[in-house]
Amino acid sequence: MIDVKIHLKKPGVKTPKGTCYVVAKNGAFIKREEWWARAIVPAKRIVGLDEEQTSFQLLLPPFPALELAKAHKFFRQTYIRFGSEACVLFYHTVDGYKIHVPQQCVDAGGVECDTSEVLPGDVCGSIHSHVGGVKAYHSIVDQQDEEYWDGVHITLGVITTRQDFSLSVQAVVNGHRFPVDMDWTQGLVPVKNGRFVIDCPEIENWVIPEEWTERVHPFPNDANFISFKEIKKPPKPRKEGP
Ligand SMILES: [Zn+2]
Repeated sequence: MIDVKIHLKKPGVKTPKGTCYVVAKNGAFIKREEWWARAIVPAKRIVGLDEEQTSFQLLLPPFPALELAKAHKFFRQTYIRFGSEACVLFYHTVDGYKIHVPQQCVDAGGVECDTSEVLPGDVCGSIHSHVGGVKAYHSIVDQQDEEYWDGVHITLGVITTRQDFSLSVQAVVNGHRFPVDMDWTQGLVPVKNGRFVIDCPEIENWVIPEEWTERVHPFPNDANFISFKEIKKPPKPRKEGP
């Protein structure tokens, strides 16, 4: 039985007098009021409560080979056009997974994409490419981008004109990362050096939609460039000064 009060820190609600635990936006604290001092410090343990363990179980259905192959074909096309990375989102509807290509600016070392569009299903995560000799992993920049983006994030590495690639799949929940079993992505056939190809004959006849291709732009060679959204904006009319 816990005999110390637990206070939820909310705007306009006073913390009670005496010793208590305070659960706030930035974690759990303990407030101590002693004869010699008053202090609020982070609480590593809350006496009287059971311990909890970090855990994760993926409930999404497996990711089909054809959708992975579509992303891979699109990444190879973008590599051939610009020598660059690219990114797609994937969402889930009653008809299964669908891939969405957001507006994006790309180069060999990164992608900036517009994730603000509302899609006709639940967005489950992202897939992006690493090109040339760069393997599939979740770089510091990737981890920063994905920190507040709950879902499954897939990286396809060593994308070139070749068919083989490396793969890394991680899930993110509230900034915590969890590895996802390789079996979740279907159709993977190991080749050599930790690389895979996709067993998916249907991809031969699948043509990359034109609107996917049109949504990929190389980063402008302009020091004043702020965001890819600027690309589509018409130039501001110049004011004629007196
Ligand atoms: Zn990356």
